[in-house]
Amino acid sequence: MATDPQLPETHALTVQDALTATGASPDGLASDEVRRRLATYGPNRLPEPPKRSALLRFVSQFHNVLIYVLLGSAVVTAALAHWIDTGVILAVVIVNALIGYIQEGRAEEAMAAIRGMLAPHSAVLRDGARQSVDADDLVPGDIVLVEAGDRVPADLRLIEARGLKAEEAILTGESVPVEKSSGPVAADAALGDRTSMLFSGTLVAAGTARGVVAATGVHTQIGHISGMLAEVETLTTPLVRQMDVFARWLSIFILLLAALLLAYGYFVDHRGFAEFFMAVVGLSVAAIPEGLPAVLTITLAVGVQAMARRNAIVRRLPAIETLGSVSVICSDKTGTLTRNEMMVAALASSDAIYTVDGDGYSPEGVIQVGHETVDAASHPILAEFARAAALCNDAVLAQGETDWRIEGDPMEGALMAFAGKVSGEGARPFAGGRRLDAIPFDAAHRYMAVLHEETDGSATIYVKGAPEVLIAMCADQLCAAGTAPIDPSAWHETVERLAENGQRVLALAVRRAAPDGEALDPGHLAHHLTLIGLVGLIDPPRPEAIAAVAECHAAGIRVKMITGDHSATARAIGAMIGLTNTDSVLTGADIEVMNDAELSEAALVTDVFARTSPAHKLRLVTALQARGLTVAMTGDGVNDAPALKRADAGIAMGQKGSEAAKEAAELVLADDNFASIVAAVREGRTVYDNIKKVIIWTLPTNAGEAMTIVIALFIGMSLPITAVQILWVNLITGVTLGVALAFEPSEPNTMRRPPRARHAPLLDGGQIWSIALASAFFLCGVFGIYVYALGQGYPLALAQTMAMNTLVVLEIFHLFFVRNIYGASLRWDAARGTKVVWLCVVVVTLGQFLITYLPPMQTLFGTTAVPFFDGVLIVAVGAVYLALIETDKQMRLAFRRSVEAV
Ligand code: ATP
Repeated sequence: MATDPQLPETHALTVQDALTATGASPDGLASDEVRRRLATYGPNRLPEPPKRSALLRFVSQFHNVLIYVLLGSAVVTAALAHWIDTGVILAVVIVNALIGYIQEGRAEEAMAAIRGMLAPHSAVLRDGARQSVDADDLVPGDIVLVEAGDRVPADLRLIEARGLKAEEAILTGESVPVEKSSGPVAADAALGDRTSMLFSGTLVAAGTARGVVAATGVHTQIGHISGMLAEVETLTTPLVRQMDVFARWLSIFILLLAALLLAYGYFVDHRGFAEFFMAVVGLSVAAIPEGLPAVLTITLAVGVQAMARRNAIVRRLPAIETLGSVSVICSDKTGTLTRNEMMVAALASSDAIYTVDGDGYSPEGVIQVGHETVDAASHPILAEFARAAALCNDAVLAQGETDWRIEGDPMEGALMAFAGKVSGEGARPFAGGRRLDAIPFDAAHRYMAVLHEETDGSATIYVKGAPEVLIAMCADQLCAAGTAPIDPSAWHETVERLAENGQRVLALAVRRAAPDGEALDPGHLAHHLTLIGLVGLIDPPRPEAIAAVAECHAAGIRVKMITGDHSATARAIGAMIGLTNTDSVLTGADIEVMNDAELSEAALVTDVFARTSPAHKLRLVTALQARGLTVAMTGDGVNDAPALKRADAGIAMGQKGSEAAKEAAELVLADDNFASIVAAVREGRTVYDNIKKVIIWTLPTNAGEAMTIVIALFIGMSLPITAVQILWVNLITGVTLGVALAFEPSEPNTMRRPPRARHAPLLDGGQIWSIALASAFFLCGVFGIYVYALGQGYPLALAQTMAMNTLVVLEIFHLFFVRNIYGASLRWDAARGTKVVWLCVVVVTLGQFLITYLPPMQTLFGTTAVPFFDGVLIVAVGAVYLALIETDKQMRLAFRRSVEAV
């Protein structure tokens, strides 16, 4: 496959030649060179899939059953020379298409903005320092660092690879991860055999690597396969799709009914075709809930945006619905419930306990024993702690304008700052020597090891990791007299003591006489290490997480903490954030010996899970789901992907999460914060309520109108509301008022209700009853006013105008009823409404005044001015309606409460 002539084929070159060919240096490019290359090669981005043109988007709005009906009606009315009707129908069709067009555009914008928030970042070396850049800004020659879980940002020629495996199915179709290394391969090797390369868009399944960018953007292998990334997500969820299908079948049913009615009227009842045709058009327009799909889509778009404002980015839209029904949230600890701003607070050697002082990641602070300040000169073991902490470490400390910042893992940042405090060497302590090899940290084995070449040429292995793991690997321990055989039980006691305060405990170990060679493997560690001691790090809980946990409990949602940390630390932090049950802790080892039935029993009552690995998370999700719970699960690592996929709502961390976890998740948290999950659940419940409200609001209008027409037809009266007036009501006032519901804020008790059952129907019995009752009231109100007006001897046009206005007034009052389906509507704060509601009401009221009193509109819609007192009467009908339907609701709520109390 040919690449751009400017970008060399590097897979067959040696590492050195590849660096030369790409004009790169192992320390990375200088920033001015990056700018120059960016101008030459362009951003590292694939061209956007072609968007539908504006015209096509507008035209596609006409592809809709109702529009066909209306266009057909326009043709028939034109043939009958009813020009005004034709004009109005066409105008309504165009306005409707315009509304659809604008709304669709806004929905697409919302989705595009969210995709933008998920833009991947990449770790590079530039100007000799590690930094994180937007993947779009990579240029050929950049040195990129990748680790397990990353999506490869560009085509990379490997310079260094440790235990590296890549999943290249999107390029080669091969689903088994391929092992990679830096050795050159044959020039004509097939893509799948180019083991010296990592290709853009593939996933790092294991290991770490460093590579030089060989191709970016369209020049990458994936760039050659055009159209691959052209997937477009539409704004819909299963519920909304079902409503769409429902609306479509309802339309077809109504059209068939209308055609039958037309045939009956013409052939059996021998009515005039023209008059009857308009009645049937009126019926079709009245009964079809044409605004519903549009308003539901807007409701979703508003929900997606509201969640994004709360730092919860929805990747898969159905999650909006699922989130509302979440009954248990399983959360990671570090960074989600805690701040992930770590600081070394204590050290434990075999002889003494030290306390470490300081501020954030600043490498300055004092070390004390009791109240006495000590240093490495008087306590040589401190230097041992510091060397291991600094060298078995991938983080970089940098001084920002106001404070010290870190690049990399916060815990490693804290260790680096601590090493700076002991050595007095600032941000880069012990910078001499070089790293020969490393075993990267993995949540499954819980340690990290490096083989380090000292400045004198000797080699040392430094290891840091979970205390139980390291203590088991050590043969002896450092002490004042040099070394002594290790005393595991004493160490375990110290671990418990430190962990009980909520400190994360880490052990540090060393092997001085390293084996020959430049490669490190686990066999070099077990039983050869010398324990230096323990490090206690503090990571305080996030205050907002404490409040959010309390909110979850009020909302009937159980919160469970699943952490890789030690059980005593986990229990202490669990207690600080207010978990319900911190008495019993289940560890990964406990989970291992349980069968599925035992686990689902235990998982239900336990809230703290410690020393778990990603495989345990998957079992826990399944166990909780088996109990009928809707589970939200957080994750960040590549191995968390299966659990995230399995959970009802998989939630990935936006900052520290791997691409693999983000891609498996439904939701990504921009700030990694537990409080954002709870905000998303609240929004999820609100969106679901609003979808319900839109439906409860829309259906009575349609049913009331349709029944009014059918009854009028059967008793042989003229229509109480003409076809064009119904068009106006449904498409103009209906959509305007319906949209107000899409913006409804959460009801006050949103987070004080228990979660919705997983398969609960959308509307409960009471709500279906409300719809039926409201439809009946609408029928009575509209028909009542119409009959009253005719009885007064008013002309037909006035009676129809009054009936139409009554319908709109009822819609407005119904809106105020529907806004509070769980609480009372007739309270001042409920009736006060929101800005959006009043804006919509004002717009609709103005519209009604125009259609009723403005002469050109009167001509178009066949209306006449309504006398003042009749206007008051119409508003009174609305008020009476609200009083009646609200009383019914309160009666039912009170009845339910009393039954529940019994
Ligand atoms: P959570 O799952 O809540 O985010 P965690 O970050 O504590 O918890 P892991 O990342 O799985 O969980 O870490 C488990 C343990 O592994 C830690 O308690 C610590 O002892 C050890 N550990 C974590 N990071 C490193 C690292 N970079 N190097 C060595 N050991 C580590």
